[in-house]
Amino acid sequence: MSQTDKARIVALRELLHKYSHAYYNLNTTLVPDAEYDQLYDELLALEAKYPDLADEHSPTRRVGQTPLDKFVQFQHTLPMLSLEKAKTEDELTQFNKRIAESLDASTAIEFCCEPKLDGVALSLHYQHGRLIRAVTRGDGFTGEDVTQNAKTIKSVPLKLFGDEHPAFLEVRGEAYIPLRDFEQMNARMAANGEKLFANPRNAASGSLRQLDAKIAADRPLFFSAYAVGDYDDPAGQLDQASHYRRLQQLQQMGLVVSPLLDNVTGIEAVINYCHALYTKRDSLDYEIDGVVIKVNRLAQQQALGFVARAPRWAIAFKFPAQEQLTTLLDVEFQV
Ligand code: NAD
Repeated sequence: MSQTDKARIVALRELLHKYSHAYYNLNTTLVPDAEYDQLYDELLALEAKYPDLADEHSPTRRVGQTPLDKFVQFQHTLPMLSLEKAKTEDELTQFNKRIAESLDASTAIEFCCEPKLDGVALSLHYQHGRLIRAVTRGDGFTGEDVTQNAKTIKSVPLKLFGDEHPAFLEVRGEAYIPLRDFEQMNARMAANGEKLFANPRNAASGSLRQLDAKIAADRPLFFSAYAVGDYDDPAGQLDQASHYRRLQQLQQMGLVVSPLLDNVTGIEAVINYCHALYTKRDSLDYEIDGVVIKVNRLAQQQALGFVARAPRWAIAFKFPAQEQLTTLLDVEFQV
């Protein structure tokens, strides 16, 4: 084994720990996502080359970060995982091939294509249609209880529409701050002599994880639902066949679901969707960093299952980064 490679593995792990601690816990970004992803991929490749140096604490084995002690912690009944990434059409084609082979599928796969909203994951728990809890992703297994803050988000229904609801329903989605609101918020903070947030993602993460719900209430957070998590549905109200149909059901219950999502058949249609959304990216009033592509049929999702830190039935197609390191480091960060 090359000593240089070994030293590089150690150095990369240290660097990625430092960057992800800043990103997830301090709401600051020390390097652009593209640079983080490049270092991450380099570490993945080295770890694959030297399986003897495997370490369960490596950043490549972990999701998010340890939840902060200042919050009450809550254990997710279904883990909130990460996503496998693709950067090229070829990688999407490979993803489709893997899935089709694994399912032994004779017809083209149906995919739900969704904008990858660049905010922070949030899980909402409803008991008989009433919001009882809201939890961050944390390390994927244990999150932070941010119920009081989530209740201040106007697009989070405190009570779902209709009279009949599952006994328990977990709604997963992204909390984010729209661009115009972000600019107004930063202008207000500058006028008050407060430190500014470097970008809407950091602002969303920092706002959701405030100990004082009054501060969170002042922050223009928005919630967009992207999945049903755990549930207890004795009356069989939730659709059991299609992820896309479930999102429509969430919408009927009063949750906001992205108007840009689409249910398509075959990987060519997925690639077309990615091109079309990329073209639209700059005209949107919120930041997206790619497309999340999910196998739509729930039976197929179940058959495909999970690898260590991500589902096998989904992939994130990442758009080229917009941010520049210089602009990131020029800003005084809010911690
Ligand atoms: P991920 O990229 O693996 O994606 C999972 C997350 O996507 C979910 O938790 C959810 O919050 C979000 N998401 C948005 N829209 C969604 C949708 N429609 N359906 C499902 N999920 C959706 O998330 P991760 O594991 O937090 O991210 C790792 C990424 O974070 C890296 O690729 C890197 O770009 C970035 N990062 C950057 C730094 C840095 O220093 N710049 C540090 C750590 C991580």
